[in-house]
Amino acid sequence: QPNALELEDLVMHFGPVRAVDGVSLTIARGRVTALVGESGSGKSTVGRCVVRLLEPSAGVVRLAGTDVTHLSRRRLREHRKKVSIVFQDPAGSLDPRMLVGDVVAEPLRLSGQRMSRRDREARVAAELGRVGLRAEVARRYPHELSGGQRQRVSIARALISEPMLLIADEPTSALDVSVQASVLNLLADLQGDLGFACLFITHDLSAVEYLADDIAVMYLGQLVEKGSREQVFARPAHPYTQALLAAAPLADPVRQRQRQPVLLGDDLPSALDPPSGCRFRTRCPLAFDRCATEVPAQVEIAGGMAACHLVQPDGTRPDVRATQPS
Ligand code: SF4
Ligand code: MG
Repeated sequence: QPNALELEDLVMHFGPVRAVDGVSLTIARGRVTALVGESGSGKSTVGRCVVRLLEPSAGVVRLAGTDVTHLSRRRLREHRKKVSIVFQDPAGSLDPRMLVGDVVAEPLRLSGQRMSRRDREARVAAELGRVGLRAEVARRYPHELSGGQRQRVSIARALISEPMLLIADEPTSALDVSVQASVLNLLADLQGDLGFACLFITHDLSAVEYLADDIAVMYLGQLVEKGSREQVFARPAHPYTQALLAAAPLADPVRQRQRQPVLLGDDLPSALDPPSGCRFRTRCPLAFDRCATEVPAQVEIAGGMAACHLVQPDGTRPDVRATQPS
């Protein structure tokens, strides 16, 4: 079976802004990859290229073995049945003039599927039930619901077409902290039951611990590390990943207290004019001469990849925590 998603050297430039600059990533069927990075790293742009809300500047997007990079509008319809997206802010992504039932049923209508009204209502009710909402919610308007309920509606709409791949773009970060965990758990349960592949876009590494099989870390439009969740959490190789992990809150208070934060200093540089050599060098506590002149190669390491001059194929890797004053 072909992979759910293959990205080959994906590039998305907006005029002079190099939002995505050569991202390669594979997600096998039924697997979850978390795409992690700060806001402004380009991860949402990757998601929008996959669902073809954006047409990439270069590179290849392959969905279940089909090249969809430059599909025409008409052919995109087919593609849209295979992949769905849930956005960060359900208030902005749900049409306020549409009843919830029509919102959820919309993908069925757009895909040209003929269906009696009764069948459609039954499908919508079943889908609402699956995300923990009662059937009568179908007759309400989105603004009558809470933020958490609205995000459940978005998830129902995304899954009604039984996609092979779900893009979840910061699905909980606009929600009250009190409901974030329940929506994440819902997504994890649905993924387990339905078996869709998922690109889970997040800036929050602690959200990844329960949902992702694999992790890809993005910095200023490029991937700096990839690996299995266990591998990345236990032995992060790239200084940026190490710093992100040191800053992520942990559920376990003992491990949390043993944590030493790593100071990253200045804000993310602009994608208009990314630093030469290694793009992370302006914030890397370990940067040295070569980092300014030479782009680090993507070094293969145990089941993954890291792009840093200090990472060696034999497993040698830097440790930014050792550089911090205690
Ligand atoms: Fe830091 Fe240099 Fe490695 Fe980049 S290549 S992460 S600047 S040590
Ligand atoms: Mg974003």
